[in-house]
Amino acid sequence: MSNLMLMRAPQKYVQGKDALLKFHDEMESLGHSWLFICSRSGYAATHDKIEQSFAGSDDRRRYEVFGGTSSVGEIERFRAIVAEEKIDVVVGVGGGSAIDTAKATAHYEGRPVAVVPTVVATDAPCTGLSVIYNDDGSFNSYLFYPKNPEAVLVDSAVIAQAPVSFLVAGMGDALGTYFEARACDRTHALSLEFGGITRSALALCRLCYETLREYGPMAIAACEQHVVTPELDAVIEANTYLSGVGADNGGLAVAHSFYNGLTALGGHEAPHGCCVAFGTLVQLLLERAPRAEFEEVQGFCRSVGLPVTLAELGVTTHEEVRTIAEAACVEGESIHNMAGDVTPDELFDAIVLADALGRA
Ligand SMILES: [Zn+2]
Repeated sequence: MSNLMLMRAPQKYVQGKDALLKFHDEMESLGHSWLFICSRSGYAATHDKIEQSFAGSDDRRRYEVFGGTSSVGEIERFRAIVAEEKIDVVVGVGGGSAIDTAKATAHYEGRPVAVVPTVVATDAPCTGLSVIYNDDGSFNSYLFYPKNPEAVLVDSAVIAQAPVSFLVAGMGDALGTYFEARACDRTHALSLEFGGITRSALALCRLCYETLREYGPMAIAACEQHVVTPELDAVIEANTYLSGVGADNGGLAVAHSFYNGLTALGGHEAPHGCCVAFGTLVQLLLERAPRAEFEEVQGFCRSVGLPVTLAELGVTTHEEVRTIAEAACVEGESIHNMAGDVTPDELFDAIVLADALGRA
């Protein structure tokens, strides 16, 4: 029997300027006692608006400021709070780490989870999985859930106030989505939800790429001025919903394995999405994509400030490239979804070539 097609997504997605003022209205069906797991900046950006949304309600709210990575120890700490305080709903507020920690906490405690991204730098908000890291920051594993978050709410005004570098990184994560899904579709590989890839998923992935190209530069201009425009809203949706739901149901390939490989260097500073953008260029070389397509993607990266060279990722030696290539090809990595598979040697060559073409 061939793979059954599968499509999953958050139950509810809300986005717009000052959407947080409607937080309670939009979420009240989920429960009456709330644990907000917040990054430090996420707390500052959202607390007052969330509290305003609860005006006149006697729901219990507990805010925890969280400064760590989505590690096993942090998840244990929040599970204890949920159990002791009989929390109904876990809310992740911030970037990927706070969101992944909230999703894992809610999953283990059997509670619904709502997600409030305060930066749109990764696919974390809408996906049905968390990325778990070791305490040294290296990639540990993906943790898969039986469902996607109950709700995702993005306040575009909050995103417009966040540093533009997060928006750019999110565009990098979103850039990989179409090309990785296309590679998985070619080999009938499974999506991140272990289902066959639907036409619906591929359509979202394609729209994601088109939206980035059409609105990316104008979205950056808006974010730099801290104003919400239709172009910024389009890219917020691309980074959050189209990219997240697209990747979840479309699958990953070289671009994300390249990122996971890079975490093996330890102490790397480059944002996830910037690595995924460069990894997308590497993937296009590995799959012998038409030169025009490679140049279109590379040109897009240049136009929005995504990296096209290794130096921009802080990678300077061939020895480091060797480490990345070996780690990116370990068993279970999404790079093995590629047609004809990829060896560490082939990946090494493609990384070096992508860098040379970026420096040219
Ligand atoms: Zn990603």
